[in-house]
Amino acid sequence: MREGFAGRVLPMSEHTDGFETRAIHAGQDPEPITGSVITPIFQTSTYAQPSPGDHTGYEYSRTGNPTRTALQDALANLEGARFGYAFASGLAAEDTVLRSLVSGDHVVLGNDAYGGTFRLISQVVTRAGVTWSAADLTNPGALDRDWNPATKIVWMETPTNPLLTVFDIAAIAEVTHKHGAKLVVDNTFASPYLQQPIEHGADLVIHSTTKYIGGHSDVVGGFAATNDEEWANDIQYLQNAVGAVPGPMDCFLTTRGLKTLGVRMDRHTANAEAIVEMLLAHPAVSHVLYPGLDSHPGAEIARRQMKAAGGMISFRVHAGLEAAKSLTTRTRLFTLAESLGGIESLIEHPGVMTHASAAGSPLEVPDDLVRLSVGIETGDDLVADLNEALDQI
Ligand SMILES: *Cc1c(COP(=O)(O)O)cnc(C)c1O
Repeated sequence: MREGFAGRVLPMSEHTDGFETRAIHAGQDPEPITGSVITPIFQTSTYAQPSPGDHTGYEYSRTGNPTRTALQDALANLEGARFGYAFASGLAAEDTVLRSLVSGDHVVLGNDAYGGTFRLISQVVTRAGVTWSAADLTNPGALDRDWNPATKIVWMETPTNPLLTVFDIAAIAEVTHKHGAKLVVDNTFASPYLQQPIEHGADLVIHSTTKYIGGHSDVVGGFAATNDEEWANDIQYLQNAVGAVPGPMDCFLTTRGLKTLGVRMDRHTANAEAIVEMLLAHPAVSHVLYPGLDSHPGAEIARRQMKAAGGMISFRVHAGLEAAKSLTTRTRLFTLAESLGGIESLIEHPGVMTHASAAGSPLEVPDDLVRLSVGIETGDDLVADLNEALDQI
């Protein structure tokens, strides 16, 4: 049992229900005063106190807001975590978590990562005296062998952005824990519907809720969840002390998106599978990177730790950089834009767009690479659109 936002005790039966049930109900009981079925947007900065220091559990909206509590409780539940904290963006969540490090600590970053994460760790966190290195995490034995004793955090995505490499969460957690460090998994690409990293040994899960969780390309947000109580207390302290919190409207939109995550992910995956089939047969395409393919080097690990391969596809074209760039302007339904995970299909060129900050680094990506975020439009329309655009390059 735990305290609800009006000091009411809420049932924990939520934990035995299925994913979609929890996405709709966990942390989202009807509002106790009016019975509002949907958690209201508590658009307030402060809360009346009956006497000084005597409050309802809410004092000031940087510290806590009931709309944010609903989102935090729902998402933590879906990640199998006891503690969850929402932030103004995915990078705000990452920054706040990384502030638990002190000068002299070291971070190992998986060698394919979101460009903004790479920039944060290599350019910003280093200003506080934290060092970093990149590692090929497809080889957990090498991570063990080359272990830097100053390492406090191993930070990875799986599948990675944009190369869709799959890392073995359980194997990397084992090496990390052997050396007394903690494993952070950015679960943005899979979403908790397809993968729950904590169950496989991760200590903390990060999300850009801007992507699949919000799911409608209309809100930016971030989230961190853990079962490590000491770390959770520090993150909660930092969430308030640093203040990179989401507003109530953003929490409402994100929670609204979360309710349909399961059905959306099923359609994203089905559409992606149809597109992969077309790409494999198209003569302009040289490589298709999708963890659901048997030929993918991480296919077996993906089957072990993911429910399905999801809606992200990357591929390379024979004709090189200019052809890849030109392809991104020739689709009708796939919009040329950064970001991913929304209901609409997007196409982008990582080398000059999302991953430009990684140029010249160990995280640089091939320049003939194109990344798709496959939406939930009619699958045949998406296949035809991309096929026609490929025919032109
Ligand atoms: C987008 C993204 C982020 C950053 O999140 P923002 O909400 O844009 O700050 C972090 N990790 C991954 C994998 C992402 O795709």
